[in-house]
Amino acid sequence: MRIVRHLTMALWVVVLFGFGFSSGQASDRIPVAVSILPLGDFTRMIGGGRLDVRVMVPPGTSPHTYEPTPASARMLATVRVLILNGLGLEFWAEKLIDAANNPALVVVRTAEGLEILENERDDEQPAGDGDRTVHSTRGNPHVWLDPINAIHQVKGIRDAIKQADPDGIDVYQAHAARYIEELNHLDEEIRQTVAKFETRKLINFHAGFSYFIRRYGLEQVAVVERTPGREPSPKEIANIVETAKRFGIKAIFAEPQFPPKAARVIAEECGAQVLFLNPLGDPPDFSYVETMRRNLRQLTKAMGNGD
Ligand SMILES: [Zn+2]
Repeated sequence: MRIVRHLTMALWVVVLFGFGFSSGQASDRIPVAVSILPLGDFTRMIGGGRLDVRVMVPPGTSPHTYEPTPASARMLATVRVLILNGLGLEFWAEKLIDAANNPALVVVRTAEGLEILENERDDEQPAGDGDRTVHSTRGNPHVWLDPINAIHQVKGIRDAIKQADPDGIDVYQAHAARYIEELNHLDEEIRQTVAKFETRKLINFHAGFSYFIRRYGLEQVAVVERTPGREPSPKEIANIVETAKRFGIKAIFAEPQFPPKAARVIAEECGAQVLFLNPLGDPPDFSYVETMRRNLRQLTKAMGNGD
């Protein structure tokens, strides 16, 4: 079983790095497109090798600043299912779906049905480009960073895939059940770790971990970039530094999809270190569960565990 799983992982790596999308994967597998890496991992875990999963937002890129290419539209013309997060995270999806002209395409928005957090103020407007409509009116999109929400998303993906490929129903059902168990374990692991934190307060890079923070009773006292991709003003920096000093914050979090410059400036001013939280995951750590474990280790460094 383990070997089979590793083999599947190896194939996945090929898919991930072969961003040519339609570069001749085994034709008997069901082609499925997903927007972001975590949804790709959920889909792969459910698929049991029956699916050819293509991730649209490349590793190292934020969905907030992603620009689809003509190849993405061509790819969407050939897949059976498109799995999205929703809530405006994929602000580019509607146009792309139109351009793909694939009437049989099943589109799933996996955040549907979840309790959605408001965006703080006018957060999360994308940098620069004013004509993009982002999630500001639709709430905070980062639902997947709460493993219990992730379970909801896994169920949505499972049901859509079952509909697209009824022959594989038993496979999808069994794999999804096993993965949901794994996500429940992750939730328990996070609860136990967070219970030992010496502080609940943190300063995050942007509002990406709001669902995680709510689930586990943490408190975000400031964010570095209210608009991901746009650096804070000197006045905002001064405010964050003051907040950090007031609460004795030991680390300022950055995210690998954005330059850490502002986080470094703030950290230097208040004598904190810069640590990274990854809301998406990057190869070779493209497993959602492993990415969350790594985030948990970073959080533990910042918040202390009594050692
Ligand atoms: Zn974000």
